[in-house]
Amino acid sequence: MHFASIITKTLAFTSAGRSGPRYLALMPSSWENALTLIDLSEWSREGISLAVLGHPIQHSISPAMHNAALAKLATLDARFARWSYFKFDVPPDELPRALTLFREKQFRGLNLTVPHKVIAFSHIAETDPAAEPVGAVNTLSLTPNGWRGYNTDGYGLSTAIKETLNRELTDTPVILLGAGGAARGAAVECLQRKCSSLWIANRTQLNLDALLIDLPPVAGATPLHGFDPQNPPAGLPPDAIVINATSAGLRDTDALPIDLARLPKPSGVYDMIYNPPETKLLAQARSLGLPAANGLSMLIHQGARALEIWTGAPVPVDAMREAATTALKTRA
Ligand code: NAP
Repeated sequence: MHFASIITKTLAFTSAGRSGPRYLALMPSSWENALTLIDLSEWSREGISLAVLGHPIQHSISPAMHNAALAKLATLDARFARWSYFKFDVPPDELPRALTLFREKQFRGLNLTVPHKVIAFSHIAETDPAAEPVGAVNTLSLTPNGWRGYNTDGYGLSTAIKETLNRELTDTPVILLGAGGAARGAAVECLQRKCSSLWIANRTQLNLDALLIDLPPVAGATPLHGFDPQNPPAGLPPDAIVINATSAGLRDTDALPIDLARLPKPSGVYDMIYNPPETKLLAQARSLGLPAANGLSMLIHQGARALEIWTGAPVPVDAMREAATTALKTRA
């Protein structure tokens, strides 16, 4: 679907007379559909544009969430009536060219999702110091020098765990499942927030080792261990927060990423997956009577932090939550 084909063209008149076709209004469908770099090359929208880039991206509910927040902000401050958030399908080998083009088209901010968070890290002008140890960025903000990269996933995770499980990462043992991009961000967040110990389990030992090699400078004196999720070691701590940062659970056929019954009783289970809303891991947590929550709250809070970076305004988180929940139900 090309932007040019879905945009509403409105003839605009100035006191000097007709100024030609100008893109003034957008059909809601223009942000519900994934756009491409062809659409971007033809981009002439007035107002402030934001976007999420991914591959694939059609499933993303970020536009619903951000446009709801922007609509709410616009009722408080007319400046935001001209802001809109879109989604673009950008293959990974096109990302460097896309970042240049989005800058030329003066997009105010970008979110990055799979597979762009790590690739973008080496194609931006500046990096927020908090994102450095993660080696990945999910939020870019346009500056006169180019893109400045942030990672708001860690903030999203810790805020979500506090909100849904009423638990702080600080002074709490954490059992983290996974060693991919999301796990890396989660590990850094747990260590920076001074969890009391961090135990990381991953299916593939090689990937676990690669993560464990990078973490000691962030860990400092915090105990850090790796283990095989099929063979949980005897020394695991009780009352830990278990965080699932694996993709196991996205499909009905996926096995549990870990058997919670083989762990000392955790104090809570947070699964970063939000679609399906209840994974096998969350179902097991509930059957064991453990506080448990899915990743929707993380998605909302990482998005709220990104919007705060771009707008400098207090973000209506409730509007984002409502829109995200509705968008997910529509898709179910
Ligand atoms: P990734 O870089 O591809 O890493 C995938 C991880 O999942 C690896 O550790 C992989 O283990 C493990 N894994 C995959 N399939 C598995 C299976 N069947 N059984 C056990 N382990 C399996 O992906 P990512 O970017 O880290 O994302 C991981 C998950 O977090 C995804 O579900 C994503 O949707 C979610 N996420 C949610 C949010 C949010 O805002 N809620 C934000 C970011 C990510 P191996 O090393 O053995 O392959």
